[in-house]
Amino acid sequence: MSQDCIFCKIVKGDIPSNKIYEDDELIAFHDIHPIAPVHFLIVPKRHIESLLTCEAQHQALLGKIMLLAPKLAMEQGLKGFRSMINTGREGGQEVFHLHVHVFGGGETLPRT
Ligand code: AMP
Ligand code: ZN
Repeated sequence: MSQDCIFCKIVKGDIPSNKIYEDDELIAFHDIHPIAPVHFLIVPKRHIESLLTCEAQHQALLGKIMLLAPKLAMEQGLKGFRSMINTGREGGQEVFHLHVHVFGGGETLPRT
């Protein structure tokens, strides 16, 4: 738990979230400002700042997140989706607790 980290507070239940999944290591909830009809975040419960601070010890956790993405996306009714990890300020990261965005639905997403 990192003090003043909004996602740590969500993990702890101090801030409400629209949760769609939880296990001992991960939580997933809908993004508060969705950029597509379905937009959720997969978040490790342990505070990890970003991909820049991940090490070999996080390999299994990262793999688990990536395998959870399609499972939850299908549960949310998506047939395809985009996943995104913003890393560091230059990468557009605003919340410095590692998370993977998963979003889609509606129109086919534009190529980037
Ligand atoms: P980024 O760090 O740029 O990957 O973006 C952080 C994301 O977290 C943004 O898409 C926000 O809309 C989302 N977000 C921030 N606060 C909350 C919250 N309390 N509940 C759900 N999503 C949030
Ligand atoms: Zn945190």
